[in-house]
Amino acid sequence: MLTAKMVKDCAIRGGADICGIASVERFQDGPPETHPTSLFPDARSVIVYASRILKGSYKGIQEGTDWSTYWIYGYGSGIYSSLGSATGAIAALLEEHGHEAVPSPGGHTLLDEAPSAREPLGKGRLPPCVMLHMRVAAALAGLGEFGWSKVFLTPEFGPRQRFDILLTDAELEPDPLLREPICDRCMACVRECPGRALGGERESIRVEDREFAWGRVDCGKCKVTHWGLNPEASPFIRKDLPGMHMEVEKTTYTWYEAYRLGFALSERIDYLKLIANGSAEHGQGGRPGSVCGAVGCIQACNEHLEGRGRLRGGVKGKGNG
Ligand code: SF4
Ligand code: SF4
Repeated sequence: MLTAKMVKDCAIRGGADICGIASVERFQDGPPETHPTSLFPDARSVIVYASRILKGSYKGIQEGTDWSTYWIYGYGSGIYSSLGSATGAIAALLEEHGHEAVPSPGGHTLLDEAPSAREPLGKGRLPPCVMLHMRVAAALAGLGEFGWSKVFLTPEFGPRQRFDILLTDAELEPDPLLREPICDRCMACVRECPGRALGGERESIRVEDREFAWGRVDCGKCKVTHWGLNPEASPFIRKDLPGMHMEVEKTTYTWYEAYRLGFALSERIDYLKLIANGSAEHGQGGRPGSVCGAVGCIQACNEHLEGRGRLRGGVKGKGNG
């Protein structure tokens, strides 16, 4: 008989670093457009697994010598290749035991900030853009919690990982929700964020007897900084667009406006264009690069948590195998 342990061991062997399982009942209070059964009506369990973002992928940005490595190994095929291998391995195991396996990449900013959903294809149907909320799914699978920055934190890697999700009709024993907090509200993320995007009002969700809380993120300010349009984080903007004075405190872009501005301007900034073209070869579709390099929300948090000895470190599969 298929067990939760077999599934989690398979995820680790397949390339993931950590894996957890949520029962579908834990999603009962979630909106239908992010509910597992809206994607797969027979779903009984939600399998969430992650690969670590390599610490060394930040080095080029820290040294001021290479902005492409984090974009590839923090976002692109460099990290998603291991997640893709894990997805294939888990799905094969589930199918060999007579179950269905439905992959879902999950989302976060898109769900919070994207333009309103397209029209449903028929009466009584949901719009064709149902997507699980990745951070919520990871929390419900017992993998960790939201940090104050809203970046998801795990006991193994703190803020350094990316997730994938598989839905299945197999009844698998769920993992307990994380009890011991990781985020100690040090606010290093807020202080170090060059986009002044963090530290908004408190938001929260409650699942069973656990509350997950974070500070609201200004996704417009984050996005213009992330795309390299904020001179506090990007040395390229002053060189190629000397007349542009982006004062990020005064910007009030929505996330989607900032997203489109990045596509429009990166073509006019030589280094951003170079990263975008280079990243196309690594499955990033020629999008502008992650110039901020998450120096506040991820890098500052990782340094703080490691310095305090609060992370278990990168022993593969530890804690969830
Ligand atoms: S830096 Fe990390 S631990 Fe500190 S408040 Fe931000 S999310 Fe929490
Ligand atoms: S990506 Fe950069 S701008 Fe956005 S929240 Fe993180 S540190 Fe701030």
